[in-house]
Amino acid sequence: MTVGFTLLATDGSARRGSLDTAHGRVETPAFMPVGTAATVKAMTPAMVAEAGADILLGNTYHLMLRPGAERIQRLGGLHAFMRWDRPILTDSGGFQVMSLASRRTISEDGVVFRSHLDGSPHHLTPRTAVRIQHLLGSDISMVLDECTPFPVDRDTAAASMARSMRWARRCRDAFVDRPGHGLFAIVQGSVFPDLRAQSAAALLEIGFDGYAIGGLAIGEGQRTTFAVTEATAPLLPADKPRYLMGVGKPDDLVGAVARGIDLFDCVLPTRSGRTGQAWTRFGPLNLSNACHADDPRPLDPECRCPACAGGFSRAYLNHLLRAREILAAILLTAHNLTYYQDLMAGMRAAIAAGRFEAFRAAFAAFGQTTSAAAGGDDDASNAADDRDDREERSHRGVGSLA
Ligand SMILES: [Zn+2]
Repeated sequence: MTVGFTLLATDGSARRGSLDTAHGRVETPAFMPVGTAATVKAMTPAMVAEAGADILLGNTYHLMLRPGAERIQRLGGLHAFMRWDRPILTDSGGFQVMSLASRRTISEDGVVFRSHLDGSPHHLTPRTAVRIQHLLGSDISMVLDECTPFPVDRDTAAASMARSMRWARRCRDAFVDRPGHGLFAIVQGSVFPDLRAQSAAALLEIGFDGYAIGGLAIGEGQRTTFAVTEATAPLLPADKPRYLMGVGKPDDLVGAVARGIDLFDCVLPTRSGRTGQAWTRFGPLNLSNACHADDPRPLDPECRCPACAGGFSRAYLNHLLRAREILAAILLTAHNLTYYQDLMAGMRAAIAAGRFEAFRAAFAAFGQTTSAAAGGDDDASNAADDRDDREERSHRGVGSLA
């Protein structure tokens, strides 16, 4: 395993680092846009890079079903296939099998399931999950694990976690070491601190290139997400990257970075971009609302994205959404990804300068809301209702976050 991680600075528990892979460097803390089906929806690879992303995430489950890992390998691997020459992290497929596939059966061997696309039968094991990610050419592969639902009783969580740890061992044994390619493990154990500790200890004994905290952002709420993260992160080695899977909203990212997390992924900025929601320094904004129909202002006059710097007004975005024009998804996704990447860049600079707490305070002062469900986006539109007040306040001179 030869993915390299360098811890460049710390500020409290927040960490500034760099992760070196076969396809280049990832500056951390980093947010990975989700490229589910070998594309970040509505974006060209150049637009994703322009937003500032060093790395994106691909979904093994979707790619193994369509177009198939062997086909992608024959066509030169995932990087060449989707024309993205920067690092790629792939999940193991386990999470989507649990959430999308039908007639799934979990056993000690792995998961037998039927495709949600055509009902075809498939068998995902620790060995095949690693092999598929190898065929794709992922810079960072993830171990196969079971993401236990929330809530779950302790006995079920303990048994599931123990099996995931046995799977992790088999994934490690199956992983083929290559320069610049690494395998990350996933700490499970639901919301039970002792199970999380057992899980972390089991994984450290095996040894991985990085450690993810899984099984969160599935409806437990931000307070619990933060509590589990705060208890788990210190159990992980300081010299390896830490990845909080499936998180989240901007305030989730800031809070988790404060608790020692280096990597994130979430569909939120891209999915929101396709449903009319913009994330800004002042909080979320629902462009579908009629109140924007005559608003000549950009989403954020200081934003460098194609939507804002391109001079597109909120009124125009509102019109595009009402007319169901695909340019709405393109512009809003580009804006959201740019906002997320600039937020991460701001945090990296703040940690390096030893002023992360000041950054966090300024972020909160800008009116970012604390979400009830980290990683989910169901309550995002509610938060948008409060947004205009906050924005007006910010225009009266709260100042810039950066
Ligand atoms: Zn913008």
